[in-house]
Amino acid sequence: MAGLDLYRAKRDFSRTGEPEGAPQSQSGKAKARKAHGGAFVVHKHAARRLHYDLRLEHDGVLWSWAVTRGPSLDPDEKRLAVHVEDHPLEYGSFEGTIPEGQYGAGSVIVWDEGRWVPEGDPAFGLEKGHLSFMLEGHKLAGQWHLVRLKPRRGEKRDNWLLIKVDDAAARQDEDILETAPHSVASGLSIEDIAAGKAAEAAAGATAYQRLWGLTLTGAYLAKGGLVDAGDGQQPGRIALCRFAAENLISETAALKDRIINGADALAAARMLLAS
Ligand code: MN
Repeated sequence: MAGLDLYRAKRDFSRTGEPEGAPQSQSGKAKARKAHGGAFVVHKHAARRLHYDLRLEHDGVLWSWAVTRGPSLDPDEKRLAVHVEDHPLEYGSFEGTIPEGQYGAGSVIVWDEGRWVPEGDPAFGLEKGHLSFMLEGHKLAGQWHLVRLKPRRGEKRDNWLLIKVDDAAARQDEDILETAPHSVASGLSIEDIAAGKAAEAAAGATAYQRLWGLTLTGAYLAKGGLVDAGDGQQPGRIALCRFAAENLISETAALKDRIINGADALAAARMLLAS
């Protein structure tokens, strides 16, 4: 089957929250850029058996391998990577729970993401059975190899090995799966997702943004008030704004712990109030 046909054939999109993939994903070849490589994602997938799915963007789809024991930064640890069907580009940001009874039922998080840069022509490498590439992710970096294994008699799976090259990004004394288990997109664990925290986190993000807006307004008002405090009524208003902003800051900070990217905004509000 070509493109995403196999991916779509395995899934019932009226039952799973996974993306169907826009039609243009398939015609991505039409606008394939000259530069090879693109996004890479590693999904942590608690299906019947926990595994990690390595996905590399190529020609409008995500090439995919199920890495049964997960990637290792140790060059001596060669990890089995079963080549599976191409996934749509939209799948890259997928986090959620695939319902019981559906293909791949279980929870999924974005364990790592970034850019991949192949050495040479990746389409030729895939066909030949050897891809050599650089990863620039949060957890995985440096040079890697994917090498196809000779099929054993009766072997139906397309088995490859994922191997870390011994370079500055290699680690022999650290199991990255243990030291960095959470999502790089939401900060959530796979258990959080299974417990339905994704929706809660999204609601938290909205609440955080609203509170943040109020915090900044309060901080600006307090700061502005301090500048032109000529009016006799101003000090009271300033105190009120300052009180409101300070309270909002602590509330926003509490929410921020569950949401990423809030740190800079909070620091800005604190600086405004302190100045
Ligand atoms: Mn999977």
